[in-house]
Formats: sequence, C-alpha cells, structure tokens
Amino acid sequence: MFACHASSAAEETKEEDFDARAFRRSLNQTGRYTRKPTNDAESLELMEEHGVGYSSSGLVAQMKEQGNVWKQGDVTVRLAEAYGYCWGVERAVQMAYEARKAYPGKRLHITNEIIHNPKVNQRLAEMDIEFIEATPADTDGVESKDFGNVREGDVVILPAFGASVQEMKLLNDKKVQIVDTTCPWVSKVWNAVDNQARKGHTSIIHGKWAHEETVATASFAGTYLIVKDMKETQYVCDYIMQGGSKDEFMAKFRNAMSDGFDPEKDLIRVGMANQTTMLKGETEAIGKLLESTMMKKYGPSNLNEHFMIMDTICDATQERQDAVYDMTGHQDDPEDEQRLDMMIVVGGFNSSNTSHLQEIGEMKNIPSFWVDSGARIDVEKNTITHKLAHGELVETPCWLPDGPITIGVTSGASTPDRAIEDVLDRVFKIRDPSFTGIAPKAVTMAKAAHGDHEDE
Ligand code: SF4
Repeated sequence: MFACHASSAAEETKEEDFDARAFRRSLNQTGRYTRKPTNDAESLELMEEHGVGYSSSGLVAQMKEQGNVWKQGDVTVRLAEAYGYCWGVERAVQMAYEARKAYPGKRLHITNEIIHNPKVNQRLAEMDIEFIEATPADTDGVESKDFGNVREGDVVILPAFGASVQEMKLLNDKKVQIVDTTCPWVSKVWNAVDNQARKGHTSIIHGKWAHEETVATASFAGTYLIVKDMKETQYVCDYIMQGGSKDEFMAKFRNAMSDGFDPEKDLIRVGMANQTTMLKGETEAIGKLLESTMMKKYGPSNLNEHFMIMDTICDATQERQDAVYDMTGHQDDPEDEQRLDMMIVVGGFNSSNTSHLQEIGEMKNIPSFWVDSGARIDVEKNTITHKLAHGELVETPCWLPDGPITIGVTSGASTPDRAIEDVLDRVFKIRDPSFTGIAPKAVTMAKAAHGDHEDE
C-alpha cells in the first residue's frame, strides 16, 4: 500500500530546493495536466439530465425568471436571492463530467469527495469514477490516503477545494493525467501564502487545520499557523503583545502549525490567509485584529514590514446566509406579504454551511425543515423527516398545513438545483395529488465559458 500522509505536506515543501508554486505551474508543461473546463455541450446536457448542475429549464430556472417567487395553487414559494451551488463547485462537477467523456477507456479516480453532496458523488461513482479512500485518522485526527490503486496512465481528478502539493507531486511522479478542478479562488489563497513565504512572513490561516482545503493551502505556505476563530486569534495576538507560555502555545496549536514553528521568532512578520468557506465577516475581523496588533507592536510606519494581507475572501458562504437574513426579515409585520410561514432548507446533513442556514430559521422562530433530498418527504402521509440545526433527526407529521402558505426556500453551497425541485414537487403534490410536475422550459445548452475568475 502506498499512502500519502495529508498533513506531512509541510515536511516536504520545507526542502530548500522545492518551490511549490513553480512545481504547480510546471505541471502545465507535462502534457498530463488540465485545469480549465472545456464547456463541452454533451457533458453539460448529461449534467442537466442527471440533475447535478444549475437548473436551466426546471422550476428553479423558471422561478428565477419571476424574481425568485413561484405560486402553485395557494402555496407561495420564495427562493433566497443567493442559494445552492457556488460557482467553483459547479465548475468542479462540470470538469469531472468532461473528464469522463474525454477519457472514455481510462480508469478515473478522484482524491476526495468532489463536493460534500451524496447524490452528486453517487452519480460520479455510477460513471465509474473511483474515490481514493482515506485511511482512518490517527490519534491526532490526521488522515492519510491510499494511492496504491492509482497506476500510470490513469486519470486523477483533484476536487474544488484542491489537494496538497505533495499529492500533486506524487501523482505527477506516477505519470497520471491530472484534472485539477481546484477553484481559482482557492488558488488565489495559495498564491497569497506563497508571496508571504517569499517575503519571510508567517501565514496566519483562518481555517480548520484538518479541512482538506486548509491542508492544501498549508502545503503551499512556508511557515504557517492555523487559527480557527477570533478566540484563537486573540490568544495569538496576546502572545505577540505580551508573550506567554511557549509550552502552552505549542500544545494548543500542535496540529495547526508548520514544522519547527517558534512563536518567539515566527510571529514578528505575519500575513493573513483564509479557508474560503469560513465566514467572510469573521475572516475580516481576524485580519483587522492581526493588523491592529502588529500596528500597536511595531508602530504604524512599520506596519508594511510586519503585516501582509491580500483580498482572498470568497463571498459564497456569507452571501447565502445574508440572503436568508433578508428573506426572513419580514416576520414582525403580520400584514407583510413577504412574511414566511415556514422555511425549507435543502442540503447534505454533513454540510456545515447548510446547518447555519437552518440555524437562522430556528433563531427567528420560523418552523424550518432541513432535508437532504425530496425523499425525506412522504407525500401520502404528509410527514417530513428533517434535521435540526443542533443535529437531531426528527419526523414531523402533518407538517404542511391546509390553507394559503408562504414557504421560504434555500439550499447549501454543495446542493444542485434539482434537489430543491424534487422537494418542491413533493410539496405541491401533497396539496394537489393530481400534480404531475412543472413542465420544463425549452433551452439550448450553450453556456458562458467558465473563465472569468481564472487566477493565472
Ligand atoms: S466557496 Fe468560493 S472558493 Fe470555495 S469552491 Fe465555492 S466559489 Fe470556490
């Protein structure tokens, strides 16, 4: 078995002669590396047929043409302004479909779930795309991957949140065709940490140390420290200002720092970076706290020598939450026709961004039902099996009351539009057993090229 240790990323990249960014660029010259979609019409059609892309003809597409509102009998549906698939996730799924078509006779693998959505991953598995298994986490929670089954000439897809530079190097050494779907917003963060390393700054990464994206970002950084929230950042800033117990510091961040990290030496010049799925507001607040700390410590005129920041924030997660706040902002006035009677939140049960959307509904005392697919709704019995924000799975009988009702709908960032359509089909069918679905509108599968955010 050949295993690649995900968080040994840093160890190899610290070798003097290894330049992670130059290595990734050099892959372009191998003739075995693809990093852009081709916008192949047949692949787009298949995605539409499988319901794994943006809706171009179904209910969601039609609802968007009507200002995100749909009336079906006495049910009014209000779709949040921002919901569902982010740009990078849809692009990654598209590239996986295009790879399947481009390499029909080849064995295809993917280094991880392409996105956190079981239905999409199941579709890829049905298309004979194999997932490279992670081995169980060790006592520190660190996972490895088993690449033993990957052979020369195979095709390996890297997911939207990227892969560590060690995984890329290993795959290149194995002479496989690499299809790199890493979202350009994520690559932008890699460029930021690389710039920080070149200027001798430690990258402070706002993220979760075990998250695949952060593991990948850390592998492109020089010296780094990962902070998960404001509380940990405050701890680091207090250390910068007043010092403290080095042993405690080292124990606290033992899985979240580069090899050989020394808080006495490595917090003198810092730069800010982020895991793109962290909340924008928190990342901004962490950046400001670090900036003001360095300013206090070294004086405003020396700030540029001690602090670096580049705008690498992707708004997708925050936009989805802001849209739910907007959608639920009419509850105080019983006469307001945009007032919601209930909310349906659609998304994978392991998706943390979806749980935050559900949380908002619960916080506002709106009956909110979080489901991962339409199959959670039993039309005959009018029951729904749904998850609460704190994790409990419950079944609610008679959940859809009689009479006029306004339902707010949103979905998490890994959720294809078809999942919303399946849920709403069942809602409409509970109200009208003769309902047979919304007729699709005619479309051509032309698509604007995915190219407006390319990073290099
Ligand atoms: S959340 Fe942002 S950075 Fe992450 S895949 Fe989506 S668009 Fe890209």
